[in-house]
Amino acid sequence: MAHAHLLAPLDLGFTSLRNRVIMGSMHTGLEDRFFHYGKLAAYFRERARGGVGMIVTGGISPNRRGWLLPFGGTLNSVLDLWNHRRVTRAVHEEGGKILLQILHAGRYGYQPFVVSASGKKSPISPFKPQPLSEAGIAATIADYVRCARLAQRAGYDGVEIMGSEGYLLSQFLCSHTNERQDRWGGAIENRMRLAVEVVQQTRAAVGPHFILMFRLSVLDLVDGGNTWDEIVTVARALEQAGVTIFNTGIGWHEARVPTIVTSVPRAAFRSLAGKLKQAVRVPVVASNRINMPDEAEDIIASGDADLVSMARPFLADAQWVEKAASGRVDEINTCIACNQACLDHTFANRRASCLVNPRAGHETELVYRPSSQSRRVAVVGAGPAGLSAATVAAECGHDVTLFDSSERIGGQFKLAMQIPGKEEFAQTLRYFARRLEVTGVKLQLGQRVTREQLLAQNFEHIVLATGIKPRKPAIDGVDHAKVLSYIDVLQGTVTPGPRVAIIGAGGIGFDVAEFLLHDRHQLQPETLSDWCAQWGVDLSVTQPGGLVKPVPAEPLRQIFLLQRKATRVGAGLGKTSGWVHRAVLQRNGVQMLAGADYQRIDDQGLHIVVKGESRLLEVDHIILCAGQEALTELMPDPSQAGTAGPKFHCIGGAALASELDAKRAIREGAVLASSW
Ligand code: NAP
Ligand code: SF4
Repeated sequence: MAHAHLLAPLDLGFTSLRNRVIMGSMHTGLEDRFFHYGKLAAYFRERARGGVGMIVTGGISPNRRGWLLPFGGTLNSVLDLWNHRRVTRAVHEEGGKILLQILHAGRYGYQPFVVSASGKKSPISPFKPQPLSEAGIAATIADYVRCARLAQRAGYDGVEIMGSEGYLLSQFLCSHTNERQDRWGGAIENRMRLAVEVVQQTRAAVGPHFILMFRLSVLDLVDGGNTWDEIVTVARALEQAGVTIFNTGIGWHEARVPTIVTSVPRAAFRSLAGKLKQAVRVPVVASNRINMPDEAEDIIASGDADLVSMARPFLADAQWVEKAASGRVDEINTCIACNQACLDHTFANRRASCLVNPRAGHETELVYRPSSQSRRVAVVGAGPAGLSAATVAAECGHDVTLFDSSERIGGQFKLAMQIPGKEEFAQTLRYFARRLEVTGVKLQLGQRVTREQLLAQNFEHIVLATGIKPRKPAIDGVDHAKVLSYIDVLQGTVTPGPRVAIIGAGGIGFDVAEFLLHDRHQLQPETLSDWCAQWGVDLSVTQPGGLVKPVPAEPLRQIFLLQRKATRVGAGLGKTSGWVHRAVLQRNGVQMLAGADYQRIDDQGLHIVVKGESRLLEVDHIILCAGQEALTELMPDPSQAGTAGPKFHCIGGAALASELDAKRAIREGAVLASSW
């Protein structure tokens, strides 16, 4: 059997899991509102039906002080049981198991009543925490225990106690935040007391036949984080206290090392699960940047871990396990680790979803059901919007033809996947290519279709997903031989010289800067050791937090990245990934200039005025990344509106070039195609 180790059951003594695949905790926002629990149950039901062995809910606080956000989800009263039972029933009906994650945010709470080990404010919340008193600690432990008992009554198979990522228990575990002088601070034996007491008292309350998974940080990535010896000391004490399974956590949320974005090599931290497995007897879970079955299988088969946890990959594809089990790995809609619709939404207090699967978190609202009448549909443009519209329309039973002037599908994604660290975008195109075959979409590539040709074929719906063309800004000298389009650069048609200015510092300007920093043939695929050297990560964790001095590779070029706005360069990038892009450029000496007034381009280079001062950037090339304009040439003449004939629809970049965005494009295509 394919992926035999991954799909083998795991006997825990008092219960067993049907396979080694855990859907890890991901806050969706649905758990925070009692009226969303029907939607939450439907979301988990689909994943359990898709074969996941065990699911962990989003974080639920044991008390109000532990809220991540004001009025976040809690399970601290019998009044909450009814809703939680809807969730557990849905998962059990599909043969899965489910744990409630108990997460006390400590000083990461975005609310004024936060508490922590000490009064040290976190860099990611404006609120200064109150250090917990002795009585406060005792009450907090009692709240964990009450929450776990209520979880048991609600039908959960166990709880995951969140002890990593910098939340309350981590705040006690590490001297980075624990400055106490009493029996809860100082040596590791004191710092771990809270976590150990929570587990011990919870185990005593719930009895032996209830899963207690503890998410233990095995790499803190902050100064004053724990060393490997301390981590092992904590793990052994927790095992003794009654832990059934250890999940592994990587990096605090305030760490300045990325741990989950696309540029982190796949399965980068599996060796840490392997190290922990050697130190304890209970099963260990590997996590972070694992998204496809072959790696997951290898992690289990090699003995690095007993289970694999993935959260975002199950937003991207609820049938991940089923597809792996039936040899349909090429049909998996792979999580590309972009964070754009999941974590970026969570941090903006919006419901989490998925860029490549807009149904995630919207299972009851966006439904692809067979249409009562099959329609003849033309989709023009095989970028993300068109691919989504075509495949969903065909899935709903329509007769779909997809046109594109290029020989290959993908649109802007073909360019995005050239960027170092964005190789995963190729997976989305692999998925759509297969999905076109599976759903029977007729493909007409390599020809620019005209309106007359479309009208001659009696389509009932014509979807224009024709995308964009790059904007050519009105700058004196813009036609000079030094000026290049980002498309030529990313396609490799031209190779810019050693000094480059980039006009436009949006998503594409940043991408182009990263693309030009290093010789992509040298760095791709970036090895784990290269990545660790660049970010200063020591996977042996001999230094506190696993941090060492970074040794970045020498950049190939001197780059200027410019924008006209006076705001911080890169301010519009994604919340959870933008800082990574900025850090990479800063580390490589890219000069980011805001408030640039472009004067002219000539043989000398680019002439600009910044803060009233004239400057000449003596560069070999100037690359235009100045935004986009919509391609709408196929739109019918508005004077013909209302006349008989096909219905025209415009989606994606063609509809709104100024906010060209794959997340919106894919969602728009799916919403439109499922509405006929
Ligand atoms: P964008 O993000 O809107 O950025 C366009 C840039 O061009 C801005 O810096 C803008 O800054 C500048 N600009 C606009 N009009 C100009 C003009 N007439 N002359 C000179 N400069 C001008 O667009 P994009 O970079 O083309 O990216 C398109 C979309 O792709 C983004 O919306 C994003 O969703 C997506 N994307 C995101 C990422 C990411 O987050 N990492 C990466 C790639 C693509 P000033 O007006 O201040 O000069
Ligand atoms: Fe993965 Fe991006 Fe979807 Fe989040 S939005 S689940 S990171 S593909």
